[in-house]
Amino acid sequence: MIHELDLHYNNWVIILSYLIAVLASYSALNMMGKIYSSKGTIRLIWMISGSLVMGSGIWSMHFVGMLASYSSISFQYDPFLTLISAISAVIASYIAFCVVTYRKNEGLLSITIAGFLMGCGIIAMHYIGMAAIQTEISITYDPFLWVLSAMISFVAAYAALFLFIRFRNQRKNYTWKMISALIMGVAICGMHYTGMSATSMHIQDPHLMHHTPTGVNRYMVLGVSFVMLFILVISWIAIFLDRHLLEKMAYRDSLTLLLNRNGLLDYFDSKKEVHGSIMFIDLDRFKTINDTLGHDIGDLLLIEVAKRLKNCVGHGGEVFRLGGDEFLIITKEIKETQLLDLSHKILSDITKACFIQENELYITASIGIATSPIHGTDRKSLMRRADTAMYHAKNNGKNGASIFTQEMEDVQIRRMALEKDLKKALIHQEFFILYQPKWDSNQDKMVGLEALLRWNHPELGLISPMEFIPISEETGIIVPITHWMLESVCWQNKSWQDSNLINIPISVNMSIRLFESNSLVHVIRKALKKTELEAKYLELEITESIAMNEVENTMKQLQELRSLGVRISMDDFGTGYSSLGSLDEFPIDILKIDQSFIRKINIESKKAIIHTIIMMAHNLNMEVIAEGVETMEQVSFLKANGCNLMQGYFYGKPSLPINIEEMLMKKRLQPN
Ligand code: C2E
Ligand code: MG
Ligand code: MG
Repeated sequence: MIHELDLHYNNWVIILSYLIAVLASYSALNMMGKIYSSKGTIRLIWMISGSLVMGSGIWSMHFVGMLASYSSISFQYDPFLTLISAISAVIASYIAFCVVTYRKNEGLLSITIAGFLMGCGIIAMHYIGMAAIQTEISITYDPFLWVLSAMISFVAAYAALFLFIRFRNQRKNYTWKMISALIMGVAICGMHYTGMSATSMHIQDPHLMHHTPTGVNRYMVLGVSFVMLFILVISWIAIFLDRHLLEKMAYRDSLTLLLNRNGLLDYFDSKKEVHGSIMFIDLDRFKTINDTLGHDIGDLLLIEVAKRLKNCVGHGGEVFRLGGDEFLIITKEIKETQLLDLSHKILSDITKACFIQENELYITASIGIATSPIHGTDRKSLMRRADTAMYHAKNNGKNGASIFTQEMEDVQIRRMALEKDLKKALIHQEFFILYQPKWDSNQDKMVGLEALLRWNHPELGLISPMEFIPISEETGIIVPITHWMLESVCWQNKSWQDSNLINIPISVNMSIRLFESNSLVHVIRKALKKTELEAKYLELEITESIAMNEVENTMKQLQELRSLGVRISMDDFGTGYSSLGSLDEFPIDILKIDQSFIRKINIESKKAIIHTIIMMAHNLNMEVIAEGVETMEQVSFLKANGCNLMQGYFYGKPSLPINIEEMLMKKRLQPN
């Protein structure tokens, strides 16, 4: 005789099973969020652990659900089929996660496929789990309820995934994640209990039946719940570590603990538009500190600067370190006066002395500011413009702040265009040389010439060396340009000498880059040999910054050149940062007093400086020449103070070779 089994349910265990399903779903969705934002092995780890949590969640819910129902018979399960049922849930979850996270494909089709696969996983798990019952019973299913259980699982799994994916990019998406998990719980439990209603169990051997229902096997419930809880705790620990350690490592700068470039991108990602201003801060000459005092001290200085920046900004903004000596501040301020006040506060705080390992260090910074919405609303344009303003502050003498203007961008665009064209200028023969006389005012005759470079740009016309020399120094193009210049000047001088026009040296301006390239001596030797010009007719003009850069190496090259017979002069003397104490150690023949002193010759203090420079040159057995001499008054003062060599418009502007020749011819025709 066949007996139909009556199933009884324990409501508390049903609620517990639902909670398990929801918790597992929430954790799995959390992990799914990680899959989107990671790559490679880390992504695979999140994928596997997410599907393990989801699969084991479905499995635990099923078994707790089975334990919620009891009858007059105790069930035994086949371990192999039980394992298969768990694996099917894990595999289905894995494939569903793959589909939905593949190349961030968030289309409806992929969500539908993923929902379907997830549903299949839940159904497969349930019915394989049912088949694992070993007890001698026969099971039949009501077709309508069976189909309904499957439908519930598909629809609810789809809805849960849809909501999660739709709202995952929201900053505070916890609520949506929770709603998705609750719906996923409905998919799993709804399927299970509808499936159970579809089930009829019949027993042939009435001896297996107890007189009263067995009740819930408490140990089993506890055991399965414990396993589930363990898995969940593990997954939460993983998420916690990820959020609090890995995220910190990825978004924070390890040295200053400020947010880094990733942190900045994240900041902008979380806001569609920025309201406020961006300040780009770059330390001035930080490299020198790093090079001279070492990276450890450099690092400590950066930590100190970061601290001062944070203090200045307070709660009114966020400070980021973009790398090296570059910092960025996002502040709510938009008014020009407030922004300038803040930047002056920052500048004055940064310039205060830093005491680091018994060193008293002083550093300055340059700040560029761009404000939303006037200078742009998106990250890229605001950052580019703040950067442009920062470069403007740097070029303006450093230790200052500039607010972006369109003019700055125009200057930068022109600079970039010039940089591009400079590369072709030498090949296209767009350079030419002007010569300016150096005059002996006692003998009233020309005693030298300075070669000055000019660039005739095909579209923009004549460009000042003040504009293109700094660009060619930065890009290194100055090296081949100077090589060309040296050879051309030697040719010119030799040909004038051969025509009996002159017998005087011509000077060529040098740049730091030439000494750094270590090719100078070789190039000069070659040029002199090729043109057969005597070395004493070539003069090199160096500046104080060249002399002070890599002193030993520069000194060695200068001495070598001087031993060839080449003359060396110190250009723009008085404007650099040279220490006067070592002037006598440099192999220098001539001091050129900078034109800025000569221009202000009627100021008493400038007179004193000029007088001192002349005296010093004489005492060091150097010649001295004044630059930028324009008036008779200047000539008289200089002569009275013992400086009779002069260069300037008073004696002749920089001129084309043909004009110099005309002048020399005229002079030759003049009766003495
Ligand atoms: P510098 O070597 O000090 O050259 C003197 C500059 O003063 C020249 O400007 C010259 O035209 C100008 N000058 C001469 N006399 C007077 C005067 O009486 N009054 C005024 N107001 N100015 C006068 P320039 O030719 O524009 O050159 C500017 C700077 O560009 C030069 O300063 C030099 O530092 C650099 N430069 C020029 N040619 C070369 C070159 O071939 N190589 C390198 N590395 N730098 C160069
Ligand atoms: Mg010069
Ligand atoms: Mg000069």
